[in-house]
Amino acid sequence: MIGAGLAGALMATLLAQRGWTVEVYESRGDPRLHGFAGGRSINLALAERGLHALRAADADRDVLAQAVMMRGRMVHPRAGTPQLQRYGRDDREVIWSVSRGELNVTLINAAEAAGATIHFDRRLEAVDFPAKRAFYRGGGELHRVGFSTLIGCDGAGSSLRAQMHARTGLGERTEWLGHGYKELEIPPAADGGFRIEPNALHIWPRGRYMCIALPNDERTFTVTLFMALEDQGDGDPSFETVPDAAAALALFERDFADALPLIPELVHDFEANPIGTLGTLYLDRWHLGGDAVLIGDAAHAMVPFHGQGMNCAFEDCVALAGHLDATPDLATAYAAFEAQRMPDATAIQKMALDNYIEMRDLVDDPGFLLQRELELALQARHPTRFIPHYAMVTFMRIPYSLALERSEIQRRILEDATRGRASLAGIDIPALDGAIEQALAPLDAGP
Ligand code: FAD
Repeated sequence: MIGAGLAGALMATLLAQRGWTVEVYESRGDPRLHGFAGGRSINLALAERGLHALRAADADRDVLAQAVMMRGRMVHPRAGTPQLQRYGRDDREVIWSVSRGELNVTLINAAEAAGATIHFDRRLEAVDFPAKRAFYRGGGELHRVGFSTLIGCDGAGSSLRAQMHARTGLGERTEWLGHGYKELEIPPAADGGFRIEPNALHIWPRGRYMCIALPNDERTFTVTLFMALEDQGDGDPSFETVPDAAAALALFERDFADALPLIPELVHDFEANPIGTLGTLYLDRWHLGGDAVLIGDAAHAMVPFHGQGMNCAFEDCVALAGHLDATPDLATAYAAFEAQRMPDATAIQKMALDNYIEMRDLVDDPGFLLQRELELALQARHPTRFIPHYAMVTFMRIPYSLALERSEIQRRILEDATRGRASLAGIDIPALDGAIEQALAPLDAGP
């Protein structure tokens, strides 16, 4: 396996548990010795799909012990009091903020405990597929190692993908978003507690740009500022027009005034942390016969706005393990994995792009809030048929492609019913029953 990141360490665990001989080659040093990202806290939202995969690896309890529950979005308007919009109906429908570094260490420990061997400081450089040899750079040397098959878990910039592509085109294309991000930090309060509500994902929506903040168990928040990379000529800020810490301070004073006092090291963070770029990676093929297969970001990197990249990568691991259980023929297993997962990856990639608009623009829009109110009313009326979009993606494990298909039907019903209205008062809700029963078959609503 190439890469002992999130997908790699979980995949290694699942395969080693099944008795496979698993050797993992990871370009970075052992995070248990070196730490992560220069010591910065970077976190991720973990949802039901990811949790289910962690249960399969028996790693869920360790991960949840360090996680912070997020009940909903805390939306910070330009002026006025922040409001919590719950993600689900109650505390059984929540997501979890987890530290990327701690999660990776937990999974690396799980992989080793299950019997996998992880070789750190080994960067895949080249693959000789006919001779079944891979070449890894590490410790100033090039190491040549034979393989029976390769699983690529080496992330969005996958070296294995490049080697496969050189052998037989994979139909690779990346659509760049044109927006980037910068990470900042809210430290603990003077008494050691959280400075703002911990059990929420905070959002400062500002139209075509936004800030978000996720809690960490050490009482900090990781803040991420998202905006266009280049000036769009529309008066909105971009990394081009906000090139340095002084401009960032002015931006926060104007647009994120309640966040500014929470980020005392804004000048340092803005200057020290890199601008991340965001894109969606599409491939026509994920495997090369039985010689190699790609999973996670290496196969289908996506923009982070649905908080599903890791969750989807973890779902890949369970799916691939299942296909390998079903047949001893690797090429057949990889083809079945690709056929199952590619439509789902494409669906969540689209939903992730759509969710950027929802987060940065719609969450404080009265029309959107009215649709959300109606969505909950219809869910109460049709609990197995009308399940909110966010719930299908986040709290269930139905295929992403099915969640997308049903969400589109539901969105049309919501838009039609709320058009031109300011409240639910004038909507004849029972009159919608027929359309719902006809268009939406019942789903098993449990996770
Ligand atoms: P990675 O985590 O990138 O791991 C790849 C591993 O391969 C690394 O350890 C790397 O060192 C190693 N590697 C790379 N090249 C080589 C090589 N040549 N040889 C050997 N090893 C190599 N997802 C969520 O589910 N929820 C979220 O809230 C969320 N938030 C996000 C926020 C941001 C800003 C971003 C950018 C992403 C976010 N994601 C989120 C997505 C998530 O980070 C990815 O989907 C996830 O990390 C993919 O896991 P992976 O194992 O495929 O790749």
